[in-house]
Amino acid sequence: MKKRIAILPGDGIGPEVCESATKVLNEIARLYKHEFEFVYGDLGGVAIDKTGSPLPEETLSICKQSDAVLLGAVGGPKWETLPGHQRPEQGLLGLRKQLELFANLRPVTIYDSLAEASPLKNEIIEGVDLLILRELTGGIYFGEPRERRGEGAQETAIDTLVYSRSEIERIVRKGFEFAKERRGQLTSVDKANVLESSRLWRETVDEVAKDYPEVTYSHMLVDNAAMQLIRNPRQFDVMVTENMFGDILSDEASMITGSLGMLPSASMSQDGPGLFEPIHGSAPDIAGKGIANPLATLSSLTMMLTFAFQMPDEANALQEAIHDVLEKGYRTADLTNDQSKVLSTVEMTDRVIEALGEKAVNV
Ligand code: NAD
Repeated sequence: MKKRIAILPGDGIGPEVCESATKVLNEIARLYKHEFEFVYGDLGGVAIDKTGSPLPEETLSICKQSDAVLLGAVGGPKWETLPGHQRPEQGLLGLRKQLELFANLRPVTIYDSLAEASPLKNEIIEGVDLLILRELTGGIYFGEPRERRGEGAQETAIDTLVYSRSEIERIVRKGFEFAKERRGQLTSVDKANVLESSRLWRETVDEVAKDYPEVTYSHMLVDNAAMQLIRNPRQFDVMVTENMFGDILSDEASMITGSLGMLPSASMSQDGPGLFEPIHGSAPDIAGKGIANPLATLSSLTMMLTFAFQMPDEANALQEAIHDVLEKGYRTADLTNDQSKVLSTVEMTDRVIEALGEKAVNV
């Protein structure tokens, strides 16, 4: 198969982990006889430096003409004093909006060999396998008006939390679809005891549920969900929720695994290209040192292979390769206190490529 992939390395460790990803994609192309074409674009701080805009038109057009988009990370101290609308993060928000990436998927799975990295007890995290599905293009991050009014003690700041029934329906439907493919259990998270938008959310979930009798679903208030994720994360299969609740809950859930450098994410539209990225940021404290953990980005590739390219064999081989290198005890600096065994980004990538060759031996 022939696929065109937009690569947006971004800032900090973004270019380092994206280089790792393109090496791995080249190996997958070689092993499985695919053709992957990479087209590079600027996003975030690097784009501000070159063009003055965090999301140049050219980058947007490259993304729209691709089958999938891979993003490293954006942001860093250099751009933190810029006004809000000119910050690197605006590039990412703009890209999500322009590509209509309304569904953000964050799987949280435990690698047994990394269980000790979790701040939670082993008996709590054992067997955790959940998917958080976050609405990404609506709600309070985009609602209008958003502004300041007045001055001094009377100064007021306003954000608007708004959702339409159709916006809720499309993300909730995705939630039921994923639950159907997984363990058949959906938890919808809202704040229906207080918020009108959550009451519409709840009604819509009840409506959509009629089309999925095979899925068991329940509603949970967001404050309870935050607590239950730590108390008993194994109870969840798929969680679906609105933008801001999902932002907060998915970061909380990432700590179940204890390692930010491990977790992937995918953002999908109805039928345009999806965006695949690690959940971590640009890690300015380690940028340029060659020690970043590439595994979150490589796991994001497994999601790209699965959801964007329908290549389940390739995705499984990569997932197993990542699993294998961890089982064999290979670690980047963020995953171990034993500095004598630490691998660089390039060395870790090479170990994954080696393991991939073994997994794909029968192709
Ligand atoms: P961060 O995720 O960049 O870093 C937090 C800590 O985790 C740091 O100590 C870092 O060294 C470590 N870390 C992160 N990824 C790692 C990896 N792959 N390997 C090894 N260690 C890793 O979060 P932050 O420090 O809060 O933010 C730094 C910048 O990144 C900020 O400008 C922020 O706005 C931006 N950011 C961007 C994104 C994105 O592009 N999607 C997401 C979060 C933060």
